Amino acid sequence: MKKDEIVTVTIEDMSSEGLGVGRSDGLTLFVKDTVIGDTAEVKIMKMKKTYGYARLIRLIRPGKDRIPAPCPVAKQCGGCQIQAMNYEAQLRFKGNKVRGNLQRIGKFDNPPMEPIIGMQEPFRYRNKAQFPVGRDRNGRLIAGFYAGRTHTIVECRDCLLGDKVNEKILNLVLEHMETHGISPYDETTGQGLVRHIMTRTGFQTGQIMVCIVVNGDSLPAGDALAAELAQIPGMTSITLNINKENTNVILGKKIITLWGQDYIEDMIGSVRFRISPLSFYQVNSVQTEKLYGKALEYAGLTGEETVWDLYCGIGTISLFLAQRAKKVYGVEIVPEAIRDAKQNAALNDICNAEFFTGKAEEVLPDMYAREGISADVIVVDPPRKGCEKSVLDTMIKISPRRIVYVSCDSATLARDLQYLCANGYSLEKVCPVDMFGNSVHVETVVRLQRKHI
Ligand code: SAH
Repeated sequence: MKKDEIVTVTIEDMSSEGLGVGRSDGLTLFVKDTVIGDTAEVKIMKMKKTYGYARLIRLIRPGKDRIPAPCPVAKQCGGCQIQAMNYEAQLRFKGNKVRGNLQRIGKFDNPPMEPIIGMQEPFRYRNKAQFPVGRDRNGRLIAGFYAGRTHTIVECRDCLLGDKVNEKILNLVLEHMETHGISPYDETTGQGLVRHIMTRTGFQTGQIMVCIVVNGDSLPAGDALAAELAQIPGMTSITLNINKENTNVILGKKIITLWGQDYIEDMIGSVRFRISPLSFYQVNSVQTEKLYGKALEYAGLTGEETVWDLYCGIGTISLFLAQRAKKVYGVEIVPEAIRDAKQNAALNDICNAEFFTGKAEEVLPDMYAREGISADVIVVDPPRKGCEKSVLDTMIKISPRRIVYVSCDSATLARDLQYLCANGYSLEKVCPVDMFGNSVHVETVVRLQRKHI
């Protein structure tokens, strides 16, 4: 196969970036805009030794799970890689992905899988959105999303994954910019004022936050805009975020309150969280509750246990578990997240949680060497690259009765599970949870049991 050649492929899988994966002539082809089951005519764009990239020319036979993508800009935006697959098929794909990785990478022949926990409705689930603001070719003000892998803005004021109220907020802000001749920020020149509009909604509390990111110290007639936004039912916090750096990072460090509070609150289960524009908070709070409910079930707490929660972020899991444990210790690398975790513990009158700032791979081995810490249960929720070997080794030495592993990448999960299971643990249960419907991502929670009591 060579560049520009046209071939026919049947798509059998999806890559982690959401490209359809098919085979032709014993070689693997990655094809954008295709989904599992499609048979398509594709044109080779780039060929490597054993694989290549191709472009969809014509769908010969659409897969049986293909549906028309509900969002008009699904293709250009790239945020929802599998919107053209019906939701049951999405869930099947995600469950199979986890099982496949456990079998191939983890060498578990028959992993003890529970059915994937799907969403009731795979749209309107994101409680946070960040819209870049710019101009289209004709100089018109637009807000939307960056097209996959670029910084070209695809106009979209009503992302179907986000809250319906976002459209109203964007309309008001953009109208205000028109009226007052306020320019959007231009990344190439570093000129212009308004960079991003961030919104957050507390799905349980109904509280709404708007944060306008500006390349300056103020927003012309900011009070007038705030007064209009404040009319929206639920509006709780309207702020400016100052970001004058020439950077891809969306938020700067300084926040100025225009109206109301500088934070909103939301609940996961019965735990209340205070969320400022700079805080991390799970974007799908409904599924987060289900995921952490599963983690709690797998932890099997009676109220007597000492629990370590590694990679604890703002302490979401720690505070969830603290309600059923004797003591919970959280470890997290980001100091601001630990500050939020402590604040959230106080907000909920939770006194049996303690938090440490630092790398899990340093804090845990250090504390084990110095104090010989013990644990009945260890929970880990690492970033995509999984746990450092020193973390796994220390866990094996501490030898808790149970390990609960929450993972956003089932490939590194499988690798780490294989190591733990070669060192005294058995894989008892695996449950995938869909936190990000219409995307290729899948979360997994796992329960490991120590073999020798
Ligand atoms: N359980 C948390 C979030 C987990 S996301 C929650 O639900 O809120 C993974 C977290 O690991 C992030 O907060 C990230 O900052 C943190 N992290 C990344 N590398 C780390 C390391 N080496 N040691 C400790 N924490 C780390």
